[in-house]
Amino acid sequence: MLSAEQIINYQAPSDCLKDRIILITGAGDGIGKAAALACAQAGASIILAGRTVAKLEQVYDQIIDAELAEPTIYPINLEGAVADDYDTLAVNIDQQFGRLDGLLHNAGVLGQRTPLSHYRQDVWDKVLQVNLTAPFQMTQALMPILEKSGDASVVFTSSGVGRTSRAFWGAYAVSKFAIEGMVQTWAAELDELGSVRVNAINPGATATDMRAQAFPAEDPQGLKYPAAIMSAYLYLLGPDSKTVNGESINAQTR
Ligand code: NDP
Repeated sequence: MLSAEQIINYQAPSDCLKDRIILITGAGDGIGKAAALACAQAGASIILAGRTVAKLEQVYDQIIDAELAEPTIYPINLEGAVADDYDTLAVNIDQQFGRLDGLLHNAGVLGQRTPLSHYRQDVWDKVLQVNLTAPFQMTQALMPILEKSGDASVVFTSSGVGRTSRAFWGAYAVSKFAIEGMVQTWAAELDELGSVRVNAINPGATATDMRAQAFPAEDPQGLKYPAAIMSAYLYLLGPDSKTVNGESINAQTR
């Protein structure tokens, strides 16, 4: 495995994702959008999953305009989705592609920035549903078609507060701690298989709507933009990380 610094500075070989089928959640905005564009640029066929179709269509158009492999739009609201919806997703991907080579669980919600003693139950439920339960259920349903790949990579999105919590980060921090733990469990269970690896990525402070929501007074000019943190994503989704399993890596030093 590369060192932490090598991963952040990784220069993905062009076409490193050639002919790979990669599903990205929350692909219409922020880091997910940048990941969809970067993976398409590296040769992958992207399944753009998300809840706001107009945003997914914009990403679709950008990929087509760049004359890259035609992506697929898959509308899904992770807040309301149930096991049947993920089974349907698996059947659709299997019928269209016959396998899945990459799964980037990127979609997430921040919830409230408030003390736990005042945290609303409905917000708690929503944050854990979107950030934790949905990626769990989706991974479970897609595992058979990931196994068909022979070299599949599942990447869950963590956060700095998923490793060391901070006051007022509520359900968000709890969901990211749980993601770190779930990655370790999946990785241990799949280690023998050797054909599906599962890792976590912490994007670090990145200029997106979510970051602005969390730090409204911050000047985004001082942050990396999503397109500038893609090296680690390409590393984890590409063949150079084939033996990396159960790790939690950083996309930038911050
Ligand atoms: P954004 O808020 O910019 O984007 C979040 C994405 O998730 C959007 O595409 C959004 O869709 C999608 N999404 C939210 N709720 C749902 C839902 N119910 N169903 C389907 N899709 C949904 O966030 P970022 O790009 O900043 O964050 C991406 C990931 O990185 C998240 O997991 C976040 O926790 C993590 N992260 C981000 C950091 C940062 O500094 N930005 C730092 C650490 C971690 P829509 O556009 O339709 O709302």
